[in-house]
Amino acid sequence: LPREIHGPGRRVAAGIEFGAVAELDALLAAARAAAGPARAAPLLDGAEQAGLARDVRSPIDGRVVGRVVEAAPETADAAVAAAARAVRAWDATAAAERAAALERAADLIEARRGRLIHLLQAEAGKTIEDALSEVREAVDFCRYYALEGRRLFAEPRALTGPAGESNRLALRGRGVFVAISPWNFPLAIFTGQVAAGLMAGNAVVAKPAEQTPLVAAEAVRLLHQAGIPTGALQLVPGDGAVGARLVADARVGGVVFTGSTEVARGINRALAAKDGPIVPLIAETGGINAMLVDATALPEQVADDVVASAFRSAGQRCSALRLLLVQADVADRVIAMVAGAARELRLGDPRDPATQVGPVIDAEAKRRLDAHAARMRVRARIHLDGRPPAGGHFVAPQIYEVAGPADLAEEVFGPILHVARYDASNLDRVLEAIAATGYGLTLGIHSRIDATVARVVERLPHGNVYVNRNMIGAVVGVQPFGGCGLSGTGPKAGGPHYLPRFAAEQTVTINT
Ligand code: GLU
Repeated sequence: LPREIHGPGRRVAAGIEFGAVAELDALLAAARAAAGPARAAPLLDGAEQAGLARDVRSPIDGRVVGRVVEAAPETADAAVAAAARAVRAWDATAAAERAAALERAADLIEARRGRLIHLLQAEAGKTIEDALSEVREAVDFCRYYALEGRRLFAEPRALTGPAGESNRLALRGRGVFVAISPWNFPLAIFTGQVAAGLMAGNAVVAKPAEQTPLVAAEAVRLLHQAGIPTGALQLVPGDGAVGARLVADARVGGVVFTGSTEVARGINRALAAKDGPIVPLIAETGGINAMLVDATALPEQVADDVVASAFRSAGQRCSALRLLLVQADVADRVIAMVAGAARELRLGDPRDPATQVGPVIDAEAKRRLDAHAARMRVRARIHLDGRPPAGGHFVAPQIYEVAGPADLAEEVFGPILHVARYDASNLDRVLEAIAATGYGLTLGIHSRIDATVARVVERLPHGNVYVNRNMIGAVVGVQPFGGCGLSGTGPKAGGPHYLPRFAAEQTVTINT
């Protein structure tokens, strides 16, 4: 098992340093012990609903890892109705009680991490490092929103006004909130959306990505067990049609969505077109994320950070690096180092702790990435072009050279990095080209010139800017995450302004 040992009792597996060999072994043993078939079904007021069932297959080897009953359109409608019945009581529950339930959920998620890691690996093909980070992130979301929620929702805020009048501003739920989550963080983002919606006093109808219903169903069971009323959290597994049905329901008071820009636009249109209340959308979508590297950067650190940013999680993060822009004077050296480091990555079965790059999510994702690579091979210079292992949906890390940001029409969601060179005298034009993509999620800068860093930060609107480090793995409460423009509507998950976006405000003025 051990790939590298650093000093007595320390081990690095897939790039993560575990405190002790025993810690990693315990984790792997817990995941193995918790293996076994899983199921997901619509959960309405806590009761599993019958319906059409299908197998859930692993992206690693195509094996069946569980079964899912997908929600029929009437089941989706019934879930909204059930949430609508439960919402008043939940919104009236003291904020401290809602927060305490989320904190108990965090404890249960931690206690159940073996099973969750197993499911994240089986259903989403996550490496052990990614699966563990994801469990931690789900726990962090519950605890962070509980903490923030206690502060924001406990008491209405007293405002100053004229004598003889009391003015108080309260935050309360918006009603039924639909949460549509992605397959790339099927536990963390799913749990984060649900926890935020619940903390703000909404009843949540959660629709996990169709590729990853199993870990979501496990999370819902834990949330219910922690004391979230079954009426306040309804689960409806299914495909995009189920999501569309939920969004179109006139009883829905808010939608939170993480996924593609195209689907976010569709949700926005559907919300605008329907009768009933005017409903806000909280959307976090993709990016054509760039990193600028100038001649003062440290090439070894750049290589490490680029490889992590572009290829960790098989590039299946919204935050992942898609376009590396290197100052021409140092480009040959930097690109060669990046390609050399990427060539060393171990691609394969993510259940092997030495694996650093697992499969992409499904056959469709692989087909799209392979098609993009085929187009690149014809017109771009190839810096890295590996062979994927047979079986499973594997795509090897690849690097292609393009002229600049304008060559990337859309997000390429996988382990394919593009590089381009720029002249120092042209930096402003490069910044304009990045801005012209319309996306604004993550941005990386490697430079030891403070004035350059300041200039880039000032010119670009990106939601998360990382200087002299990698550009993935935003930590809850530390790097609030989310972008602008084509990358989303702005509120930052894991940040102090997120919860109010799930809430309505009520001012009560009393003539005393
Ligand atoms: N928060 C994640 C990160 O910083 C990305 C989330 C996503 O892919 O949607 O890497």
